[in-house]
Amino acid sequence: MKLTFMGTGTSQGVPVIGFDNSGLDLSNKRNWRMRSNVHVEAGGRHIQVDAGPEFRIQCLQNRIDWIDLFILTHGHADHIAGMDDLRRFCDRLASNRLPVYSNEYGLERIRAMFPYALGDAPTQRGYPCFKLAPMPKMLEIAPGCRVHSAPLPHGGIETLGLVFEEGEKKLAYFCDCKLLTREAVELARGADLLVLGALRLAPHPSHMSLEEAVKFADIVGAKVSYFTHMTSHIDYGVGEGRLPKGCHLAYDGLALEV
Ligand SMILES: [Zn+2]
Ligand SMILES: [Zn+2]
Repeated sequence: MKLTFMGTGTSQGVPVIGFDNSGLDLSNKRNWRMRSNVHVEAGGRHIQVDAGPEFRIQCLQNRIDWIDLFILTHGHADHIAGMDDLRRFCDRLASNRLPVYSNEYGLERIRAMFPYALGDAPTQRGYPCFKLAPMPKMLEIAPGCRVHSAPLPHGGIETLGLVFEEGEKKLAYFCDCKLLTREAVELARGADLLVLGALRLAPHPSHMSLEEAVKFADIVGAKVSYFTHMTSHIDYGVGEGRLPKGCHLAYDGLALEV
């Protein structure tokens, strides 16, 4: 399996518009973070997880030219705002209709924002067309390849935690959550790769801080853990150097294979 970090920034992106970003070394490209989403290749299938405002440019930069299915972790703007640009991937499918999975709130937000994309076929040639479905606990995406989901608390809503399994290999993606539930920890236990949202150094009511993410990485015990969805308060060079063994900061464009 392969996971590509197309973006690793928080909802405003990094650096922040009209803000004192002097704590960041902006000569280091790894401190330029677009909104967080990942592309996963598993079982010969291409799964896109979330599509924020920079989704189009992220696809071009990472040479993403095919998507078989889309999973929206939750309906916040930094994860859903780029979904119109899924149009090109719909157009390339024989059915012109992209399977889209999310939780109840995510589906509600898609219906509200993209009412023109919900028919059985594109409204016009080249328009997006989504085949919506609730994300099940387990989705078989290819023989021997599954995606498990678990709800995670994210302020007033829930987000989908995802665990991809192919043969003996396992990777977990838990972004935008305040903590990992016991169910999520058990699903991810012994993963080859764990990705956790780690917003900033100071605590936050709906996201894990870097310290909290390190604690949960230790609990899960993956072979390697990467942190994403970071604000401008985390400088790559400073933060990466202080992490315990097996923990790393992700950056835009990083691709990992398990
Ligand atoms: Zn977010
Ligand atoms: Zn969020």
